[in-house]
Amino acid sequence: MARSEFVETLYDAYGQRFAIDEICFESRTEVQHLLIFHNAKFGRVMALDGVVQTTERDEFYYHEMMAHVPLFAHGEPRRVLIIGGGDGGLLREVVKHRKVEHVTQVEIDAAVVDMAKTWFPDHSRGAFDDPRFHLVIADGAEFVRTAEDSWDAILIDSTDPIGPGEVLFSNPFYQQCKRILAPGGVMVTQNGVPFMQLDEVTKTARAFRDLFADWHFYGVAVPTYIGGMMTLGWATQDATLRSQKAAVLEERFAAAAIETRYYTPAIHAGAFALPRFVEQAIGK
Ligand code: SAM
Repeated sequence: MARSEFVETLYDAYGQRFAIDEICFESRTEVQHLLIFHNAKFGRVMALDGVVQTTERDEFYYHEMMAHVPLFAHGEPRRVLIIGGGDGGLLREVVKHRKVEHVTQVEIDAAVVDMAKTWFPDHSRGAFDDPRFHLVIADGAEFVRTAEDSWDAILIDSTDPIGPGEVLFSNPFYQQCKRILAPGGVMVTQNGVPFMQLDEVTKTARAFRDLFADWHFYGVAVPTYIGGMMTLGWATQDATLRSQKAAVLEERFAAAAIETRYYTPAIHAGAFALPRFVEQAIGK
Protein backbone atom coordinates (compact mmCIF):
# COMPACT_ATOMS: atom_id res chain seq x y z
CA MET A 1 0.00 0.00 0.00
CA ALA A 2 1.15 3.51 -0.73
CA ARG A 3 0.53 5.00 2.72
CA SER A 4 3.82 5.48 4.55
CA GLU A 5 2.77 7.25 7.73
CA PHE A 6 0.02 7.24 10.32
CA VAL A 7 -0.91 10.53 11.97
CA GLU A 8 -3.12 10.12 15.01
CA THR A 9 -6.33 12.17 14.89
CA LEU A 10 -7.11 12.30 18.62
CA TYR A 11 -6.36 16.02 19.08
CA ASP A 12 -6.82 18.90 16.61
CA ALA A 13 -3.76 20.93 17.51
CA TYR A 14 -1.21 18.27 18.34
CA GLY A 15 -0.46 14.71 17.44
CA GLN A 16 1.97 11.91 16.91
CA ARG A 17 3.23 10.47 13.67
CA PHE A 18 4.36 6.91 13.06
CA ALA A 19 6.28 5.77 10.01
CA ILE A 20 4.50 2.72 8.57
CA ASP A 21 6.82 -0.08 7.44
CA GLU A 22 3.94 -2.31 6.52
CA ILE A 23 0.16 -2.29 6.83
CA CYS A 24 -0.75 -5.63 8.40
CA PHE A 25 -4.54 -5.30 8.43
CA GLU A 26 -7.14 -2.65 7.76
CA SER A 27 -10.90 -2.90 7.86
CA ARG A 28 -14.09 -1.11 8.75
CA THR A 29 -15.49 -3.55 11.30
CA GLU A 30 -19.17 -3.46 12.26
CA VAL A 31 -18.20 -1.08 15.06
CA GLN A 32 -15.16 1.01 14.06
CA HIS A 33 -12.20 1.48 11.73
CA LEU A 34 -9.40 -0.94 12.63
CA LEU A 35 -5.83 -0.46 11.43
CA ILE A 36 -2.82 -2.59 12.33
CA PHE A 37 0.60 -1.59 11.01
CA HIS A 38 4.27 -2.15 11.77
CA ASN A 39 6.54 0.62 13.00
CA ALA A 40 10.29 0.21 13.52
CA LYS A 41 10.25 1.65 17.07
CA PHE A 42 6.98 0.31 18.47
CA GLY A 43 6.52 -2.96 16.57
CA ARG A 44 2.93 -3.63 15.61
CA VAL A 45 0.54 -0.80 16.39
CA MET A 46 -3.26 -0.98 16.59
CA ALA A 47 -5.41 2.09 15.92
CA LEU A 48 -9.19 2.31 16.20
CA ASP A 49 -10.96 5.21 14.50
CA GLY A 50 -7.60 6.93 14.00
CA VAL A 51 -6.53 6.66 17.67
CA VAL A 52 -3.62 4.51 18.88
CA GLN A 53 -4.85 1.76 21.21
CA THR A 54 -1.86 -0.42 21.82
CA THR A 55 1.60 -1.26 20.54
CA GLU A 56 3.79 -4.32 20.94
CA ARG A 57 6.62 -2.44 22.63
CA ASP A 58 4.94 -0.30 25.28
CA GLU A 59 1.70 -2.14 26.07
CA PHE A 60 3.08 -3.59 29.31
CA TYR A 61 3.16 -0.21 31.07
CA TYR A 62 -0.60 0.17 30.81
CA HIS A 63 -1.74 -3.44 31.11
CA GLU A 64 0.40 -4.20 34.17
CA MET A 65 -0.72 -1.06 35.99
CA MET A 66 -4.38 -1.60 35.15
CA ALA A 67 -4.30 -5.23 36.37
CA HIS A 68 -1.87 -5.44 39.26
CA VAL A 69 -2.69 -2.25 41.17
CA PRO A 70 -6.32 -3.27 41.84
CA LEU A 71 -5.64 -7.00 42.19
CA PHE A 72 -2.77 -6.64 44.65
CA ALA A 73 -4.61 -3.89 46.54
CA HIS A 74 -7.59 -6.22 46.88
CA GLY A 75 -5.52 -9.21 47.91
CA GLU A 76 -8.16 -11.91 47.39
CA PRO A 77 -9.58 -11.28 43.92
CA ARG A 78 -11.64 -14.27 42.73
CA ARG A 79 -13.90 -12.78 40.07
CA VAL A 80 -12.73 -10.17 37.58
CA LEU A 81 -14.78 -8.38 34.92
CA ILE A 82 -12.95 -6.72 32.02
CA ILE A 83 -14.86 -4.28 29.82
CA GLY A 84 -13.22 -3.59 26.42
CA GLY A 85 -9.58 -4.63 26.21
CA GLY A 86 -10.08 -6.72 23.06
CA ASP A 87 -6.35 -6.99 22.39
CA GLY A 88 -5.99 -9.39 25.36
CA GLY A 89 -3.05 -7.63 27.06
CA LEU A 90 -4.97 -6.84 30.23
CA LEU A 91 -6.38 -10.35 30.32
CA ARG A 92 -2.84 -11.76 30.11
CA GLU A 93 -1.89 -9.85 33.25
CA VAL A 94 -5.11 -10.72 35.13
CA VAL A 95 -4.76 -14.47 34.58
CA LYS A 96 -1.24 -14.34 36.06
CA HIS A 97 -3.05 -14.08 39.43
CA ARG A 98 -3.63 -17.66 40.52
CA LYS A 99 -6.21 -16.55 43.09
CA VAL A 100 -8.46 -15.38 40.25
CA GLU A 101 -11.00 -18.12 39.58
CA HIS A 102 -13.07 -16.50 36.87
CA VAL A 103 -12.64 -13.69 34.32
CA THR A 104 -15.40 -12.43 32.06
CA GLN A 105 -14.43 -9.99 29.33
CA VAL A 106 -17.07 -7.94 27.52
CA GLU A 107 -15.75 -6.53 24.25
CA ILE A 108 -18.00 -4.82 21.74
CA ASP A 109 -15.98 -5.70 18.62
CA ALA A 110 -15.22 -9.35 17.82
CA ALA A 111 -12.88 -8.23 15.03
CA VAL A 112 -10.50 -6.63 17.57
CA VAL A 113 -10.20 -9.92 19.44
CA ASP A 114 -9.76 -11.95 16.27
CA MET A 115 -7.20 -9.63 14.74
CA ALA A 116 -5.31 -9.25 18.02
CA LYS A 117 -4.94 -13.04 18.23
CA THR A 118 -3.37 -12.99 14.77
CA TRP A 119 -1.27 -9.83 14.91
CA PHE A 120 -0.60 -9.35 18.63
CA PRO A 121 -0.11 -12.90 19.93
CA ASP A 122 2.17 -11.65 22.71
CA HIS A 123 -0.60 -9.48 24.14
CA SER A 124 -2.79 -12.42 25.12
CA ARG A 125 -0.08 -15.14 25.18
CA GLY A 126 -2.72 -17.87 25.21
CA ALA A 127 -4.91 -16.19 27.86
CA PHE A 128 -8.00 -16.35 25.62
CA ASP A 129 -7.78 -20.15 26.07
CA ASP A 130 -7.47 -20.02 29.86
CA PRO A 131 -10.17 -22.28 31.36
CA ARG A 132 -11.12 -19.51 33.80
CA PHE A 133 -11.92 -17.13 30.93
CA HIS A 134 -15.27 -16.32 29.37
CA LEU A 135 -15.65 -13.90 26.43
CA VAL A 136 -18.85 -11.97 25.73
CA ILE A 137 -19.17 -9.92 22.55
CA ALA A 138 -21.50 -7.10 23.57
CA ASP A 139 -21.68 -3.48 24.61
CA GLY A 140 -20.15 -3.27 28.09
CA ALA A 141 -22.78 -0.76 29.25
CA GLU A 142 -25.61 -3.03 28.19
CA PHE A 143 -23.91 -6.00 29.87
CA VAL A 144 -23.54 -4.31 33.25
CA ARG A 145 -27.10 -2.93 33.11
CA THR A 146 -28.53 -6.45 33.20
CA ALA A 147 -25.72 -8.28 35.03
CA GLU A 148 -26.64 -10.16 38.19
CA ASP A 149 -23.29 -11.59 39.30
CA SER A 150 -20.89 -9.54 41.40
CA TRP A 151 -17.19 -8.88 40.88
CA ASP A 152 -14.12 -8.26 43.03
CA ALA A 153 -12.56 -6.11 40.31
CA ILE A 154 -14.10 -4.37 37.30
CA LEU A 155 -11.44 -3.15 34.88
CA ILE A 156 -12.58 -0.75 32.15
CA ASP A 157 -10.01 -0.97 29.33
CA SER A 158 -11.90 1.33 27.00
CA THR A 159 -11.20 3.48 23.99
CA ASP A 160 -11.48 7.24 24.49
CA PRO A 161 -14.95 8.71 25.03
CA ILE A 162 -15.65 8.99 21.33
CA GLY A 163 -17.75 6.50 19.36
CA PRO A 164 -18.53 3.14 21.01
CA GLY A 165 -16.45 3.93 24.10
CA GLU A 166 -18.41 7.07 25.04
CA VAL A 167 -21.02 5.19 27.03
CA LEU A 168 -18.27 3.71 29.24
CA PHE A 169 -17.66 7.19 30.68
CA SER A 170 -21.31 7.87 31.60
CA ASN A 171 -22.88 8.16 35.05
CA PRO A 172 -25.46 5.39 34.47
CA PHE A 173 -22.62 3.04 33.50
CA TYR A 174 -20.62 3.83 36.66
CA GLN A 175 -23.80 3.41 38.70
CA GLN A 176 -24.36 -0.08 37.32
CA CYS A 177 -20.72 -0.99 37.92
CA LYS A 178 -21.12 0.07 41.54
CA ARG A 179 -24.21 -2.13 41.82
CA ILE A 180 -22.31 -5.25 40.69
CA LEU A 181 -19.10 -4.67 42.70
CA ALA A 182 -18.75 -7.28 45.46
CA PRO A 183 -18.14 -5.97 49.00
CA GLY A 184 -14.50 -4.87 49.07
CA GLY A 185 -14.49 -4.74 45.26
CA VAL A 186 -12.78 -2.08 43.18
CA MET A 187 -13.33 -0.55 39.75
CA VAL A 188 -10.51 0.88 37.60
CA THR A 189 -11.15 3.03 34.53
CA GLN A 190 -9.11 4.36 31.61
CA ASN A 191 -9.22 8.13 32.04
CA GLY A 192 -6.92 9.62 29.45
CA VAL A 193 -3.95 11.96 29.69
CA PRO A 194 -4.81 14.91 31.97
CA PHE A 195 -2.55 17.40 30.22
CA MET A 196 -4.52 16.78 27.03
CA GLN A 197 -7.89 15.53 28.32
CA LEU A 198 -8.46 17.13 31.72
CA ASP A 199 -12.24 17.12 31.23
CA GLU A 200 -12.22 13.29 31.19
CA VAL A 201 -10.77 13.35 34.69
CA THR A 202 -13.05 16.09 36.04
CA LYS A 203 -16.21 14.49 34.64
CA THR A 204 -15.34 11.07 36.02
CA ALA A 205 -14.38 12.62 39.38
CA ARG A 206 -17.80 14.30 39.55
CA ALA A 207 -19.54 10.99 38.89
CA PHE A 208 -17.37 9.04 41.36
CA ARG A 209 -17.85 11.65 44.10
CA ASP A 210 -21.61 11.04 44.10
CA LEU A 211 -21.34 7.27 43.99
CA PHE A 212 -18.34 5.87 45.82
CA ALA A 213 -17.11 6.05 49.41
CA ASP A 214 -13.51 6.13 48.18
CA TRP A 215 -12.35 7.29 44.77
CA HIS A 216 -9.18 8.70 43.27
CA PHE A 217 -6.93 8.35 40.23
CA TYR A 218 -3.49 6.90 39.78
CA GLY A 219 -0.87 7.58 37.19
CA VAL A 220 1.19 5.82 34.59
CA ALA A 221 3.08 7.45 31.72
CA VAL A 222 2.62 5.32 28.59
CA PRO A 223 4.84 6.42 25.69
CA THR A 224 2.20 6.17 22.96
CA TYR A 225 -0.62 7.71 25.00
CA ILE A 226 1.03 10.96 24.13
CA GLY A 227 1.02 14.02 26.40
CA GLY A 228 2.59 12.81 29.64
CA MET A 229 1.14 10.81 32.51
CA MET A 230 -2.23 9.17 32.00
CA THR A 231 -4.73 8.65 34.79
CA LEU A 232 -6.56 5.48 35.71
CA GLY A 233 -9.70 6.01 37.78
CA TRP A 234 -10.18 4.18 41.09
CA ALA A 235 -13.58 3.67 42.70
CA THR A 236 -14.58 1.48 45.63
CA GLN A 237 -16.61 1.43 48.82
CA ASP A 238 -13.54 0.20 50.73
CA ALA A 239 -11.14 3.02 51.58
CA THR A 240 -8.49 0.65 52.93
CA LEU A 241 -7.62 -0.69 49.46
CA ARG A 242 -5.99 2.51 48.28
CA SER A 243 -3.74 2.88 51.28
CA GLN A 244 -2.24 -0.61 51.34
CA LYS A 245 1.25 -0.32 52.78
CA ALA A 246 4.18 -0.99 50.45
CA ALA A 247 5.22 -3.86 52.77
CA VAL A 248 1.83 -5.57 52.33
CA LEU A 249 2.03 -5.12 48.57
CA GLU A 250 5.59 -6.53 48.60
CA GLU A 251 4.39 -9.58 50.49
CA ARG A 252 1.49 -10.21 48.09
CA PHE A 253 3.68 -9.63 45.05
CA ALA A 254 6.33 -12.07 46.30
CA ALA A 255 3.72 -14.70 47.20
CA ALA A 256 2.07 -14.42 43.77
CA ALA A 257 5.45 -14.91 42.03
CA ILE A 258 4.27 -12.87 39.06
CA GLU A 259 6.85 -11.56 36.63
CA THR A 260 6.42 -7.96 35.57
CA ARG A 261 8.35 -5.44 33.51
CA TYR A 262 6.79 -2.21 34.77
CA TYR A 263 4.80 -2.89 37.93
CA THR A 264 6.57 -2.95 41.26
CA PRO A 265 4.99 -2.62 44.72
CA ALA A 266 6.93 0.63 45.19
CA ILE A 267 5.51 2.12 41.98
CA HIS A 268 2.07 0.95 43.10
CA ALA A 269 2.36 2.60 46.51
CA GLY A 270 3.41 5.91 44.93
CA ALA A 271 1.08 5.90 41.94
CA PHE A 272 -1.82 7.59 43.74
CA ALA A 273 0.24 10.75 44.28
CA LEU A 274 -1.06 13.15 41.65
CA PRO A 275 0.29 16.40 40.24
CA ARG A 276 -1.25 19.43 41.95
CA PHE A 277 -3.16 20.55 38.82
CA VAL A 278 -4.89 17.16 38.69
CA GLU A 279 -5.73 17.30 42.41
CA GLN A 280 -7.24 20.73 41.85
CA ALA A 281 -9.22 19.54 38.84
CA ILE A 282 -10.78 16.72 40.86
CA GLY A 283 -11.38 18.91 43.91
CA LYS A 284 -8.91 17.26 46.28
N1 SAM B 1 -5.73 0.86 26.27
C1 SAM B 1 -6.34 1.48 25.17
C2 SAM B 1 -6.34 2.98 25.21
O1 SAM B 1 -6.31 3.55 26.30
O2 SAM B 1 -6.34 3.59 24.14
C3 SAM B 1 -7.66 0.86 24.92
C4 SAM B 1 -7.42 -0.37 24.13
S1 SAM B 1 -8.67 -1.53 24.02
C5 SAM B 1 -8.20 -2.25 22.49
C6 SAM B 1 -10.19 -0.67 23.88
C7 SAM B 1 -11.32 -1.63 23.51
O3 SAM B 1 -12.56 -1.15 24.00
C8 SAM B 1 -11.49 -1.82 22.00
O4 SAM B 1 -11.22 -3.15 21.67
C9 SAM B 1 -12.96 -1.45 21.74
O5 SAM B 1 -13.56 -2.23 20.75
C10 SAM B 1 -13.56 -1.67 23.12
N2 SAM B 1 -14.81 -0.93 23.36
C11 SAM B 1 -15.14 0.32 22.99
N3 SAM B 1 -16.38 0.62 23.37
C12 SAM B 1 -16.87 -0.47 24.03
C13 SAM B 1 -18.09 -0.76 24.67
N4 SAM B 1 -19.10 0.12 24.70
N5 SAM B 1 -18.25 -1.98 25.26
C14 SAM B 1 -17.24 -2.91 25.22
N6 SAM B 1 -16.06 -2.67 24.61
C15 SAM B 1 -15.86 -1.47 24.03
